[in-house]
Amino acid sequence: MADGVKPTDPVHGTGPGTGNSAQDGRRRRIGVMGGTFDPVHHGHLVAASEVQAWFGLDEVVFVPTGQPWQKQERLVSAAEDRYLMTVIATASNPRFWVSRVDIDRDGPTYTIDTLRDLRAELPDADLYFITGADALSDIFTWRDADELFELAHFVGCTRPGFTMDRSTLTGIPDDKLTIVEIPALAISSSDCRSRRMRGEPVWYLVPDGVVQYITKYALYAPESNQTEPKPKLGPTG
Ligand code: ATP
Ligand code: MG
Repeated sequence: MADGVKPTDPVHGTGPGTGNSAQDGRRRRIGVMGGTFDPVHHGHLVAASEVQAWFGLDEVVFVPTGQPWQKQERLVSAAEDRYLMTVIATASNPRFWVSRVDIDRDGPTYTIDTLRDLRAELPDADLYFITGADALSDIFTWRDADELFELAHFVGCTRPGFTMDRSTLTGIPDDKLTIVEIPALAISSSDCRSRRMRGEPVWYLVPDGVVQYITKYALYAPESNQTEPKPKLGPTG
């Protein structure tokens, strides 16, 4: 059954898988969803859920970045806020959990460090790194790109109807990459932040608990200072 859940076509796959390691005795499969999650939204959650089903993943770990090196042009919310929103968003799914490896490591986050740390933490698991397909074409600008494919299988998410230009993926080994279509791809964190700044709703784009967290700590309001940790007042104030 182990091969039965693994898509054979490296571009489009063959369909959702069903088994898990406890049922068929194979190595555990863990999805790795790295992101800034500023804020986490239903696009991330749908992508994780689709890839979990497609590959028969035992679990998906969400890994909020520390200081994201590709986003230094804008202020990024405090890591603890992004971590807590991700915990709130994933709490109801028994297969989802959140890792602090990137936010507890000093300095900018590089995917190679994320994968090395998770490989050391989960030596008995095959890792599936989930990312937007657009980011894949930049992958060779990522640090230690060659080693990335030794550490994980890559899953690129596209929107339905979008045809991936294979020429942008030249150099990525065919057996290390699968492209999957995600129905909720139009949602983005930038749009959620812009909506908040314009005073528009983010209900149903992000989980209800995340809406409430954003409101409670006034994230993404025009006057908020996004890089400073916000005071978390206890019952005594
Ligand atoms: P921003 O708009 O600030 O770039 P984002 O919505 O892309 O944020 P990130 O935290 O940067 O969110 O994304 C984490 C990962 O999730 C990336 O690999 C990204 O490509 C992917 N991703 C983002 N939005 C979606 C979506 N709607 N569906 C599937 N994958 C997504
Ligand atoms: Mg993005």
